[in-house]
Amino acid sequence: MKLLVVLAIVAACGDNARMVKSARDGAAVGTVELSWSNAHVVFGRLPLIVDAGAQGDFGDLTSGLRRLGAPVSSIRCAVITHAHADHAGTARALQLAGVKIIAGAGDVPRTWEGRHGPHNPTGWFARLLKHALPERYKPFVADVIVTDRYDLAPCGIDGEVLATPGHTPGSVVVLVARGKIALVGDLFRGGLVFTTSPAVHFYQDDRRAAHAQIRMLLARGVEWFVLGHGGPIKRSRVAAMFGD
Ligand SMILES: [Zn+2]
Repeated sequence: MKLLVVLAIVAACGDNARMVKSARDGAAVGTVELSWSNAHVVFGRLPLIVDAGAQGDFGDLTSGLRRLGAPVSSIRCAVITHAHADHAGTARALQLAGVKIIAGAGDVPRTWEGRHGPHNPTGWFARLLKHALPERYKPFVADVIVTDRYDLAPCGIDGEVLATPGHTPGSVVVLVARGKIALVGDLFRGGLVFTTSPAVHFYQDDRRAAHAQIRMLLARGVEWFVLGHGGPIKRSRVAAMFGD
């Protein structure tokens, strides 16, 4: 009995993967919580990875994906929402495993160097936190570079990638479920305690531009925001925080 309890606790602690949206919401989406950030999988004709954690997260990412029913061997594409070290860290490893990497044009210099880039903190906590964050990752050359928009049909997904500069110059979002679900990387974040409360992200290269992108997505009718940190968060809470 004791052994069963211990095994259950170990299993619960080790379970970094869960479904966050179902087909009833328009598209099934799973999240794998990694050392610094979330990676996601969207289920379509083929699964699609969105974001790739930090360097060193590859084992946890692939095992989480497998438990959600999306082994890497079944995946054709991964979208990197931006080239920060906690989102692009295993892109090169995924590429070597045969996954096509899609990333924004404005972040190409960072991906080629494997460099997080300037932090531009939005508050005092972020100024402290930056010293703990990963800085480097294995450089990569994206297979698809998004300057404006990219249709995900070749990846087996009914959806698109939109260039949304702001958090970084090359930030992109993934829109699925006929535009009702947006996977937005770090346009904003969930609260540290209440993870479904929207908050200004710790770092923004261009905060005004990032917040304008949030309003653009609200105007397009996005119902659910799937985030790099915390979330998902429904439209009404995002509109209350960032809307006009
Ligand atoms: Zn970021």
